[in-house]
Amino acid sequence: MPSPGPASTSPGPTPTSSPPPGPTERPVPKPRIVWKPIPFPRHRLTETAAYARLHYGIDSWRIVGPHVIVEHFTDSTTFAPVWNEFAADVPDYEFHVLPGICAHFVIDRDGTIYQLVPLDVMCRHTVGLNWTAIGIEMVGTSDRSILANPRELRAALSLTLWLAERFHIQLRNVIGHAESLLSPYHHERVTAWRCQTHGDWVHPDMQVFRRDLGRMMRRYGIPPGPAWAPHPVPGC
Ligand SMILES: [Zn+2]
Repeated sequence: MPSPGPASTSPGPTPTSSPPPGPTERPVPKPRIVWKPIPFPRHRLTETAAYARLHYGIDSWRIVGPHVIVEHFTDSTTFAPVWNEFAADVPDYEFHVLPGICAHFVIDRDGTIYQLVPLDVMCRHTVGLNWTAIGIEMVGTSDRSILANPRELRAALSLTLWLAERFHIQLRNVIGHAESLLSPYHHERVTAWRCQTHGDWVHPDMQVFRRDLGRMMRRYGIPPGPAWAPHPVPGC
């Protein structure tokens, strides 16, 4: 915004004009996202709010923040069965409760980014963190298979960068599912669930992912914030 005051008739910048952006500051491009929503009717929102009440003490299906991005892999080789599983809204195979599991995004092997759920809706993808975490699934059967696939990795990094910039999420809060019990945002009121996590995106592979993401953040003039550090959930 120009500063108020009499308009200058002389050409060139005035002493009160704001400095131009630094050479590295430029807008983060929004990656191409294919909207492929799973059904989220009223009853699924109600199930989600009940889950949030029990596990987080939050009486809402709306995500808080978000403050965290959790990276996952699907343990599948294609996208279709993942969409079908997330759409089904059936009790999960581990705890046998509703709502069904889901993630906000799924990235296919060719780098196509699908969005399945609006960003203000909580999705069940990571115990202890669903209240404040956006979930990104990558089609694949291991962290390494994704790190070795440039198109899928580039899409995952571009999407994560765009979300991190949009929601002011620090690099240390971009985590792998296998790091969930080390997040300062982990919160789980049900004792039997407190130490539950999965083995997707282990710490060494997430360090590689965060190193690449940190480089991209700096290129766009986004301060990455403090380095990742463990905050273990007590007793886990
Ligand atoms: Zn996972």
